[in-house]
Amino acid sequence: MLTNGNREMMPSGLNQICPVCSSLAVVPTGKTHNLADVLSRWQSEAGTEFPESVWQEYTVPTARNTTLYQCLRCGFSMFAPTVVGNSAFYTAITAGQYYVEEKWEFIQGAKDIASLQAARILDIGCGSGYFLDLLKTKGMKCSGYEFSPEASEAARAKGHDIFNGPFPEALASTAPYDVICMFQVLEHLPDPIGFLRDARKLLRPEGVLIVSVPDANGPIRHFPDALTELPPHHVSRWCELTFRIGMPLLGFRVEKALYEPLPDYLWHTYLPVMWDSGIWPAEICRAANGLEDMGINDSVLWFIGEMRKYGAKLLYGVPSHTLYVVLKRDEKPTRSTISEFRTDADAKFENLSSAELLRLYKELLSYNRQYREKSDEECREEEMRMGRYRLEIGQRESYLVSQQKILIRQQDEFARRKEGLAERETTLAARENEFVKREEAISAKENKLVERAEGLTVRENELAGRAENLSIKEQRYEKLFIVRVARELKALFKT
Ligand SMILES: [Zn+2]
Repeated sequence: MLTNGNREMMPSGLNQICPVCSSLAVVPTGKTHNLADVLSRWQSEAGTEFPESVWQEYTVPTARNTTLYQCLRCGFSMFAPTVVGNSAFYTAITAGQYYVEEKWEFIQGAKDIASLQAARILDIGCGSGYFLDLLKTKGMKCSGYEFSPEASEAARAKGHDIFNGPFPEALASTAPYDVICMFQVLEHLPDPIGFLRDARKLLRPEGVLIVSVPDANGPIRHFPDALTELPPHHVSRWCELTFRIGMPLLGFRVEKALYEPLPDYLWHTYLPVMWDSGIWPAEICRAANGLEDMGINDSVLWFIGEMRKYGAKLLYGVPSHTLYVVLKRDEKPTRSTISEFRTDADAKFENLSSAELLRLYKELLSYNRQYREKSDEECREEEMRMGRYRLEIGQRESYLVSQQKILIRQQDEFARRKEGLAERETTLAARENEFVKREEAISAKENKLVERAEGLTVRENELAGRAENLSIKEQRYEKLFIVRVARELKALFKT
């Protein structure tokens, strides 16, 4: 398992380009999840106990939403904003039983590597080293690369060479490798395409990259809200078409794509929801036993019972969880077309382990033959329907692209209008400043006039005072004059 810290990669909203195939036809699927809700579900459904730091990381300051976007061309899907699991998150969810020891993809990988006679082998996301153990029992030496310190220690304790540290720098001195494996790694990463580019640099020319991912077109599509398929655990979804279209662009040739046969521990979960999707156990039931009247649950239980009797552990050819892809480093990136897409129907049934399964398989084939003869007409109709459907998808894609262009134009126009408004705002602010200045000047003048008026009042008062003084003096002189005149008149009368 591989964790890279909590990082947000893909932009949300408009202008999304598929990171795998560069198509513009990336659309929101309408599936949005709130990270606080997802963490709560881990606690209530899986009994996981998260430390406070995990809650803080994913829900503070606000509980974030993340939306699933899908590329209509290559089928690649990714959650944006992309919030991946940090090490505390993984420590909490792996406290139970998360690692599966015996995986079909490990056995397949060991077989493929043995046929390559590779000397330098690296398992990226090696966990506690189960795949390294398997290769060791077959006499092959393989190093591991792992982010989790606990898992690395467990693998080292078993004698494996484990690398830690930044990717790909931590491996630069031991490169190039003949084979690199990445089992269930890509869907955890914030930038899986950048990671694949870096991994390619660690391979020698014509070196082999073995990848496994959950098959988004497999039964998990019936459980889109399963906790393990949601962020922060899985942040991207892959299907065979994604590899067929995308990997040649990254400089890889697709050597083969295999589907995991359905393992017995998934029969009870997957078979009831897949029973009517054209899977071969259902057809065996109908062909070999005429059980058409049996309800789905009874059919499934009967079938599981029969398979257990034969000691079967894997149902070859029945869709399951994992898609397994072998890629070869190609020296020049090429453009792949969908017409290169091929599925080897017979390969699905390889490795039938018991005679009983082989008998059932033969019955199935004869049933299929009869069915096919009967329904040639239906097949032609189906083909026409598919053709129409593909046409519709093409039309929808071009419609969406044209809508996107319109939106981008509108966005530009809004941006321009916003700019114009900002300019006007600036002009208005300048004018306002001018008015304020003028107002200030006027009020200064007013103040000055008031001051002058006050000065005039003071002088007026002063003059009025002086005038009063003068009139008092005048009155006094007048009185004095009268007294003098009276005195002079008195003197005159005496004489
Ligand atoms: Zn794409």
